[in-house]
Amino acid sequence: MAQAKRAYDPVQADVAGAEARCDQSEKQLDFWINCMGSPVLVVEKGSRVVSFSNKTAKNFFVHDASSLVGLSIDALLGVPASLLLTQIWSIPENGAISEPFIIKAMVNDKERFLLTHVTFVRVEGRDLRLYSFRDTPPSDTLGMVKWQMNLMELLNWLPLGFEVATNRDEVQFVNSGFKQMFGYDLDQLEDVDDWWRLAYPDPDYRAMARQKWEDEIAAARRENREMTPFDLDVKTADGETRRIQFRHRAIGHFHLNLYLDVTAERLYAQRMQKLAEIDPLTGLLNRRSFFEQTAEILSGDQSEDAGHVVLMLDIDHFKQLNDVHGHAVGDLALEQFARCCHGAVRGHDSVARLGGEEFCVLLRSVTLDKALDVAERIRSSTEAMRIDSGDEPVKITVSIGLSQCLAGENTVDQALRRADRLLYEAKMGGRNRIAHAPASNEQR
Ligand code: GH3
Ligand code: MG
Ligand code: MG
Repeated sequence: MAQAKRAYDPVQADVAGAEARCDQSEKQLDFWINCMGSPVLVVEKGSRVVSFSNKTAKNFFVHDASSLVGLSIDALLGVPASLLLTQIWSIPENGAISEPFIIKAMVNDKERFLLTHVTFVRVEGRDLRLYSFRDTPPSDTLGMVKWQMNLMELLNWLPLGFEVATNRDEVQFVNSGFKQMFGYDLDQLEDVDDWWRLAYPDPDYRAMARQKWEDEIAAARRENREMTPFDLDVKTADGETRRIQFRHRAIGHFHLNLYLDVTAERLYAQRMQKLAEIDPLTGLLNRRSFFEQTAEILSGDQSEDAGHVVLMLDIDHFKQLNDVHGHAVGDLALEQFARCCHGAVRGHDSVARLGGEEFCVLLRSVTLDKALDVAERIRSSTEAMRIDSGDEPVKITVSIGLSQCLAGENTVDQALRRADRLLYEAKMGGRNRIAHAPASNEQR
C-alpha cells in the first residue's frame, strides 16, 4: 500500500533515514544469510513461498531441488507450522528480531520442534520476513513446547477472535477465530488505520468507534482493570455487518483483545423485546409497554403551553360484529382501526391496544383543541372505514373519552380513569361520539 506524503518533520526524517538504511540489496542479503550456520528461509510479506534461502536451509530441509526458492513453506514445514508462522504476523520494527517461538514442523515427514525467530527486512523495496530456525531444543524444554503447542491449538479452536498486541499496540498474534470472524488478511494491512477504514466504512461511525475504543481502553489502563465490554457493528471482508462485542485487558507487557460475534444474540433479544412490547394482531404497543412508555414521558418536562392528553377508545357494538360476520372479520376491523389511530397521531405520540376492542392514545404536548381535532379525525375516519367481509362491506363506529393529564400527575392512571368515565358517557350518549371535560385552569 502506498504511503501518504507527509510534511517534513525532523523526527519522522530520522525514522525514514533508519528505514532507508534497512533497505538492503539482494546481493547483500544473499551474502549474509549464507554466512549463517542456522537454516534461514525468507518469505515475501503476505506470501507462503520461499523467496531466498541459505545453504544451511537446503541441507536442513534435505531437498532434492537445487534451490528452495519458489517452494512453499507449507511443503517444507507442514501446513500447521506454516499457518503458525503467518499468525505471528507483526514484527516489532524494521530490522528488529522477534521474540523466539517454537513450532512443530514436519520436515521430510519427520516431526521436529524448531525454535524460530522472525526478522523483518526490506530488500530492494520488497518487505520480507526472514525466518531462522534452531533445531531440537534441549529436552527439558520439550514439556514447555508441548504446552505451548496445546495452547496454540486451544486458541485456534476457540469460537471467538483473540488477538495479542504489544504495549505499543503492535499486533503479535491473531487466532483462526479472528480471521474467520472478520475475513481480513491482516498480513496485507499496512497499518492500523487501514483496519479502521475497512471495518468501519462510514466515517462518522468510525470516528465514534475509535473514540469509544480509546476512551474505554484509557479508562481501563488508568484504573488497572479489564475494559468494560461494548458492542460495535463491524463490516467483514465479505461485506456483511456483524455485531461484535469487544473485550480488552492488559497482562504483563501484552494487550489481549477478545472479539465475540453477538449478532445472533442481539437480534434474538431485539425480537423478544418486540414480542414483549407489541400487540401481535395490530402491531401497536400492548398495555404493559404503554404504561412504561407513558410513565417515562410523564416523568419528563412538560411544555409550558400544552400538556399531554389521553384518549380512551372503544369500538361500538363490536360483539355484534363478531357474531354476525365472524371473528376473522372482527380481527380485520381491529387491524384497520389500529392503522387509522396510528395514522391520525404524530410520531412521538403513543398508541396502544389495551385489550379486546379497547385502545388508548397519549397525545404529547397538545392543546385541548388540537387533541379534539385528532379525536374527531379518528372518529370520522372510523365511520368512513369499510371492512371487507367477503360480502357487503362492514361499517364500524367508535366512542372516545378524552382527558387532559393534570400538572403533577406522573403516570397516566388518573387521566385514563377520567377518560374511561367520559367514554362511558359517550356510550350512554348514543355512541359514535367524543366526550371530554371542559378545559380548566386546574387541568394544566
Ligand atoms: P359497546 O358498544 O358497549 O362497546 O359493545 P361491544 O359489543 O363493543 O362490547 P363488549 O365488551 O360487549 O364486546 C367486546 C367484544 O370484543 C367481545 C369479544 O368477543 C370481542 N373481542 C375481544 N377481543 C377480540 C379479538 O382479538 N378479536 C375479535 N375478533 N374479537 C375480539
Ligand atoms: Mg365495544
Ligand atoms: Mg369494550
